[in-house]
Order: sequence, then structure tokens, then C-alpha cells
Amino acid sequence: MTNCHLKIRRQMCMTDVLVLGAGYAGMRACKVLAKSKLDLNVTLVNKNSYHYDATALHTVAAGTNVPENIEMDIRDAVSDKIKFVQDTVVDINREKNEVDLAENGSLHFDYLFNALGFEAETFGTPGADDIALKISNVDNALEDYHTILAALEKYQETKDKSLLSIAVVGGGFTSIELLGELAYQIPKWAKKYGFAKDDMKITCIAPGFLPMFDKKYADYAQKYLESKGITFIMGGKVSEVKTDGVIYGDDKIFLPANITFWTAGVRGNKIMAKAGYDQHRDRVAVNDDMSLSDFPNEYIIGDVSAVKDPESGRMYPTTGQISIVEATNAVKNLEARLQNKQPVKFVYNSLGTVCSLGPYSGIADINLLGVHLKLKGIIVPPLKHAIFKRSAFELSGLKASLQS
Ligand SMILES: Cc1cc2nc3c(=O)[nH]c(=O)nc-3n(C[C@H](O)[C@H](O)[C@H](O)COP(=O)(O)OP(=O)(O)OC[C@H]3O[C@@H](n4cnc5c(N)ncnc54)[C@H](O)[C@@H]3O)c2cc1C
Repeated sequence: MTNCHLKIRRQMCMTDVLVLGAGYAGMRACKVLAKSKLDLNVTLVNKNSYHYDATALHTVAAGTNVPENIEMDIRDAVSDKIKFVQDTVVDINREKNEVDLAENGSLHFDYLFNALGFEAETFGTPGADDIALKISNVDNALEDYHTILAALEKYQETKDKSLLSIAVVGGGFTSIELLGELAYQIPKWAKKYGFAKDDMKITCIAPGFLPMFDKKYADYAQKYLESKGITFIMGGKVSEVKTDGVIYGDDKIFLPANITFWTAGVRGNKIMAKAGYDQHRDRVAVNDDMSLSDFPNEYIIGDVSAVKDPESGRMYPTTGQISIVEATNAVKNLEARLQNKQPVKFVYNSLGTVCSLGPYSGIADINLLGVHLKLKGIIVPPLKHAIFKRSAFELSGLKASLQS
């Protein structure tokens, strides 16, 4: 048999593995798949040529950071063993084991790692989809910043102070981290565009404030942001977004705002419903080996999955941190399946949570080497940066983590 025949026979025996999405989950899956000793033919599909650090999108939205600092070229970051196709997934034909792409036809898979990530969830609130700004990818984060800049420039021409009002809907991580960055920008914008710091009215409206943190630390965060000029309306739920403000609370109070950020929730990628997955808000409940009972050749990882915490019986919150652990577990389970071994149960020990309040403060509740630490103040932003560096390393190796 010639070398060529041997090569063709080898390729025919290889297992086609398709990874959709190059977020934390997809990148981590590729990293572990590349190390596998099995004969796998792995293809990664992602709509952009780059991976982005979604946990830093709010910094781009507020203009304290530029997209290049949170992006990583996928071809540089993944092993040469992984084939990369830059394209948009438009549908998944699960009966035929095929994924339809916008430009490159269809791709076959024997095994699928679906890591298509998150989108903003507006819960059907009127105006939230079409009027409010979202933070769910680099494009909309950059658009958000340009919207703010356009308002500031218009203020410079007109001196109309109503242009300087921003409403931020939501009291979770994304909202509070965004408020930290906006608060940091106020003095700079005031100086550059010629207004007093107090003229900029940034208001956060939410039913609660960082409910995942101890009250003492949440109170610290709220007071810190108030000292930087942010106003909070707590207990209020926004029922409508208008072009000139929002309606909130049982009494339908109108709060004027030239710009509204909707940062009140996330859901999975809408492709999940379109492709016929049994989903809730485009998240699919998986078995404890990250697979699905009805389609056992599919692993659902990252923000499109819903994984039950065996202790509380509730679904774990979707985070970048858990996405990485899910991806590693799913690859181990593919290997176990291909070698007729027992599945490996998903086990998750959270390293904790860190919430920045702009570049100079934050709060954290973390588990480091078995020690539980609660922190606040200036020590937190460098800690968050160190976590980001570590996650870049975990996803891609030393080269990309040094670049970022
Ligand atoms: C502002 C902010 C701060 C956060 N802070 C933290 C934090 O401190 N810690 C933490 O653990 N988590 C944090 N999170 C949550 C975390 O970012 C998400 O849980 C994480 O990004 C989910 O990873 P993923 O790989 O599932 O999806 P994503 O990161 O959403 O990646 C999905 C990938 O799929 C691609 N894609 C989407 N649709 C298609 C398509 N149709 N075709 C092809 N490609 C497609 C996208 O371009 C993207 O590359 C934060 C989120 C935000 C927004």
C-alpha cells in the first residue's frame, strides 16, 4: 500500500469533531482536544477571526479600553492540529449531523461541542430590544461607546444637558462593572466636552444590588459608586424603554435618559431554539457528563448549557469560569466514550467572584488555595487582571497570554 493510500485510510477512520464558538468554552475544548491521543479531526467554527475576553466587554462599551486589548487571534491561539473555519453558524441539523454555515455550506460531525455563547435577555420588555444598548459582543460594545461619544459631541455643540443622562438597567455584574467604568470617565468627559461633573446624570435602576455578595461588600460598592456621581434607584423594575428615558416601578415613573443600557440579563444563543433543542431561554439542560440523552453525540458547554448544582438543586449561574470547567469535562467524556470507558461526572468548585468598580476599586469573594477571602478596594482590580491573564493562559498557552 502506498503512503497516499495509508493517509486516505487513516483520514477515513478519523472521528470528525466540530466545535462551534470560540468563547471560553470553545477555546478550552480545542486546547484539550488538541492534546488528545485519539484520532480526531477537529474543526473550530467562529464568526470572527478572534476570541474575545467577554468579561471585559464593559470596558470597551465605556471607552476605558480598546477592542484590540481584549481580542486574541484564533489562529495564533489554537494548536495547528485544529482546523479553523471563520464563518457564522446559521442552523444545526441534528438528525443529519450537519451544521449549516452562512458562507461555506455544511459541515459534517460525528461529535459536536456546541459553545455558541450568550446574548442579552430583555424578557420581552417593550423598547429594550430595539432602543437600549447591549453589551454582549465586541461589535455592540464598540457601538455603545460611539453612541456615548456622539451624545457628548452633540452636547458640545448644543449645550443641551439632557444629552448627558444615562440609565443603566440591572443590578448584576455587568451593570455594576459598567457603572464603575462610566464613573471613572465622568471627570475626563467633563473636562474634554466642557461641563461640570454633576451635569452628567448616570442612574442605575434595578430590583436589587449585587445579590451574590454579602451585604457589607455590596454596600461598599454602592457607596463607592455614589461617591463617584452614580445615582441608584433600587427596588424599581423597568417596564419600558423609550427613546428619551425609561418607565419603572409600580407607579410607572418616567426617568429621562438620553441613553439606556440594558444589562439586566443574559440568555443562550438564539440558534438553540431555532435548531430544535429542548431549551429554556436558549439554554439546554445537560446530563452530568455534559452530553444530551436524546443526542448523545452532542456536548453542550458554556452559556448555552444549563448544569444543575447537585447541592442546591438549582442551575449554576453561567460564567466564564464554569464554561472552562465544562469544556474540559466534556472533552474527557468524549475520550471516555470513544474508549468505552465510564463517563466522568462534572464537578465544579467555584474559585469565587470578583466585581470591579472601575480601574481603582472592586469587591471580591474568592477561594484561593482552600482559603476563603473577602476583599474590597484597590487590591481588587490587579487581582481581576491576574485572573484574566491566567484565563488567557488556560485557553491558549503562554504566547497568547503574554500578548494580552
Ligand atoms: C461585562 C461582563 C463581565 C463578566 N464578568 C465575568 C467574570 O468576572 N467572571 C466570569 O466567570 N464570567 C463573567 N462574565 C460571563 C462570561 O463572560 C460568560 O459566561 C462567558 O463569556 C461564556 O462563555 P462561552 O464560551 O459560553 O460564550 P461566549 O463568550 O459568548 O463565546 C461564544 C463565541 O461564539 C461565537 N458565536 C456566536 N454566535 C455564533 C454563530 N452563529 N456562528 C459562529 N460563531 C458564533 C461568538 O463570536 C463567540 O466567540 C461576564 C460577562 C460580561 C458580559
